[in-house]
Amino acid sequence: KCLRIIQENIPDQSFQTWFEPIRPLRLSGKVLTIQVPSQFFYEWLEDNFVHLLRDALDYAIGRDGMLEYSIIVDPGTERHQPLTVNVPTTKNPQNSRPDNFQTDPRLNSTPPKDQDSLQLDTYLNQNYSFDNFIEGDCNRLARSAGFAVAQRPGLTSFNPLMVYGGVGLGKTHLVQAIGNYIRNHFNEKVVMYVSSEKFTNQFINSIRNNVLQDFTDFYMKVDVLVIDDVQFLSGKEKTQDTFFHIFNHLHQLGKQIIMTSDRPPRELQGLQDRLLSRFKWGLTADLQTPDFETRIAIIQKKLQAEGIFIENDVIEYVAHSVNSNVRELEGVIISLMAQASLTRREIDVELAKNTLRNIVLNEEKEVTIDTIQEVVADHFEITVADMKSKSRKKESVYPRQLAMFLAKEYTDLPLKSIGYHFGGRDHSTVIHSIQSINELMGSDPDVDETVQKLRSYFK
Ligand code: ADP
Ligand code: MG
Repeated sequence: KCLRIIQENIPDQSFQTWFEPIRPLRLSGKVLTIQVPSQFFYEWLEDNFVHLLRDALDYAIGRDGMLEYSIIVDPGTERHQPLTVNVPTTKNPQNSRPDNFQTDPRLNSTPPKDQDSLQLDTYLNQNYSFDNFIEGDCNRLARSAGFAVAQRPGLTSFNPLMVYGGVGLGKTHLVQAIGNYIRNHFNEKVVMYVSSEKFTNQFINSIRNNVLQDFTDFYMKVDVLVIDDVQFLSGKEKTQDTFFHIFNHLHQLGKQIIMTSDRPPRELQGLQDRLLSRFKWGLTADLQTPDFETRIAIIQKKLQAEGIFIENDVIEYVAHSVNSNVRELEGVIISLMAQASLTRREIDVELAKNTLRNIVLNEEKEVTIDTIQEVVADHFEITVADMKSKSRKKESVYPRQLAMFLAKEYTDLPLKSIGYHFGGRDHSTVIHSIQSINELMGSDPDVDETVQKLRSYFK
């Protein structure tokens, strides 16, 4: 009954993560006992869902209903740590931390023997932190899970932690923030950040140079391994084999593994099943496209960091217009600032509009045969109708040939349909046009320059 209410009130992903793993143990009188997988899990429920839990209890048991948590202390033996909490009271400090957290052997893991080989760059970029990672609905779960991992690396049930999401949504920023946090708060821990591409190259080189053992030894000694964009390992069987060994070794020692991917694990084609099943041991959290409010907050933070003030209407205009990803949003802000300082003018909505128009033209406009005809016609100051007409006048023949040439270059249309779009000409005419532009480009620098210029509209 409780779960049904809860499910209706929170996003599916939260429900799956936080409520599906709960097992009801008993209901005696007004006390409902539930089993949760870990201390962290219990804390999370209390921190984030206490009101919801209270409401659900009220409804299902009554106002005097109580909730008792039973925490699995050691997943191997399913030993339980009983803990009674009357929701929504605060946690009982004596009980809030099962004993084995202090004596957990993983906490006393021996430091790596060969420190020298680990004095390598960790490839962490200090600019990425939790402080400058704006929180929003789009990233709340991933961010909180990341922060939990950063505070207790290797000790939460989020091992591995897998963050996935589309390009420019903050995967690298988030996992770097985790790495930085750990490095700043746990002096003794060796944190290593590596992109999957780099990992692959190092692997290949180590084979070539006969030092594969050193390579695996190196990674097996880290305490925290952050590996970015694992989709890149796709189809690279040998690299995956080695990663699998490293992964198992680290995981067994309770070392923290953090990964990112541009898609959810189930869609990672070309990755071995045994690896994919490992990924599911921990937590998978996604980053979504930021909503309007989050975009506003990101822009404001960015401006603040640069010490620049912009009126709210401009910020809102930008937040409305750029909604695909954070990287693009940042790009727009940077070019706005650049524009403003170049032209020594204030950043107002007008400037924002111009800047955006340029960026959109340069990056996004899909090149269709219509666009090509318009751009070329504009350039030669003729009409598109002239271009499609039967006229053999020089003023329209050359632009027509050029437009056909570019249509061949930028669209997938067969010659026949290109001809069709130019007033129903046949494909041999199109071939002839392409040839003649090619020849002209070789012999006449002006033509070459014109072609380059027109091409620049479409890039
Ligand atoms: P991804 O790795 O997913 O492609 P990045 O982590 O490189 O994306 O993020 C792209 C840019 O957007 C970076 O400059 C990053 O700092 C910024 N960014 C992404 N998400 C946020 C956020 N929530 N708050 C602040 N900046 C962000
Ligand atoms: Mg990235």
